[in-house]
Amino acid sequence: MKIRFLLICLFMLSNSIFAEEAKRFAIVRDSDFNAVKKEVLLTDLISKHSYEGKYFKIVNGKSNIAISFNDNDDLQLKAATSYFHLSKARSFFVNSAKSQYVEELPQVIIRLDIKNVFNEVGHFANDNLNPQFNNALTVPEGAGYEPKEISPWGKEIWFRPSKVINLKDFKGQVDFGGSLKGSLRLFRNQTHMVNLQNFITSLLQGPLNSQSNLIRLVENSVLIELIYQTSDKAAAVFNRKIYRLDSALVPEIIYHEFSHVALSKSLELTHSTPVNEGLADFFAGKISNSKKLATNIKEYNLFNGKQVQKKQQYQLLFESGDFANSDFVFGLLWNIGLVVGNDLETQFMLNVADKLNTNVSIRDDLLNATLNTCKTLCKASLNDRIKLYELFQSKNL
Ligand SMILES: [Zn+2]
Repeated sequence: MKIRFLLICLFMLSNSIFAEEAKRFAIVRDSDFNAVKKEVLLTDLISKHSYEGKYFKIVNGKSNIAISFNDNDDLQLKAATSYFHLSKARSFFVNSAKSQYVEELPQVIIRLDIKNVFNEVGHFANDNLNPQFNNALTVPEGAGYEPKEISPWGKEIWFRPSKVINLKDFKGQVDFGGSLKGSLRLFRNQTHMVNLQNFITSLLQGPLNSQSNLIRLVENSVLIELIYQTSDKAAAVFNRKIYRLDSALVPEIIYHEFSHVALSKSLELTHSTPVNEGLADFFAGKISNSKKLATNIKEYNLFNGKQVQKKQQYQLLFESGDFANSDFVFGLLWNIGLVVGNDLETQFMLNVADKLNTNVSIRDDLLNATLNTCKTLCKASLNDRIKLYELFQSKNL
């Protein structure tokens, strides 16, 4: 009996040593959408001692070597959190959205704590040039540049280090009511034409001009606000009096960035537009699969949210990058999803994205792609297209 027990123990031990899985601590959402630290299982690893998997390799800054299981705890928490949620996002696109493109994607490099500006030719801009904090971005592949010994690279996701911005530094320019929550409310009620990142950066120009470039905030505004509103307890991620964002610790930002990669078959990663940002937010919301988040999106989206006083009508200005408001597109897509139905919307939206490119317009291209997709995919094709027309008309589209 004892020997059998020992054998089972040995078997389990050998399994845990040689299996391509590892248990690590990561930030996840609980059922109330609070961020909590929890042990999770990382799968599809190809290394026994580092964050390198079949689909993702998590590295520190400009390095090409995977972060080790012996690295410092802070860095490992970001590595495990991003690895875990990237795996979830990938599996969503492969299994729920049936994306062959994502299934065949080569390993994506994920850079943590990288401050460099992205450079299309040189990969990384000079270290001292305009260091970046508090945001995340997805960069397109590059051919490299042999004379300067720059190797080619594939699509990559970059998470910036966090940097504390004290809210009192904003004072005198806008009354925030002393909290980030106040500033977000102000942004939502008065500034529908720019995204949050531009808004706060513009506030910082003036007395803090020298710092303004240091603070590019994460781009997706409605999602960020919802995350903030529901994450008060996550002191490690957000704090009332300061703004800092460890984007690699926020599941929805990770989903948003991976969605850019997943949609890059047709939507190039070269620049942001209302349509590609709105689509990335849509998928981030779906991958999150949180009832609480869905309820909040329903209440607070600027398109037709119940709690929003000044809902938006479509304006031609939305088409231009400078005045882009991806929130409008996000709300529009979320509502299209409701018409199409829960069981169909993910595949539906992937189909829509496949019909688009990065430079499409909302009014013509996005709407046409939606109606054409409905023609073939909707269960009640004619009826649902009438509902979509009505939805578009209600917003002056
Ligand atoms: Zn984005």
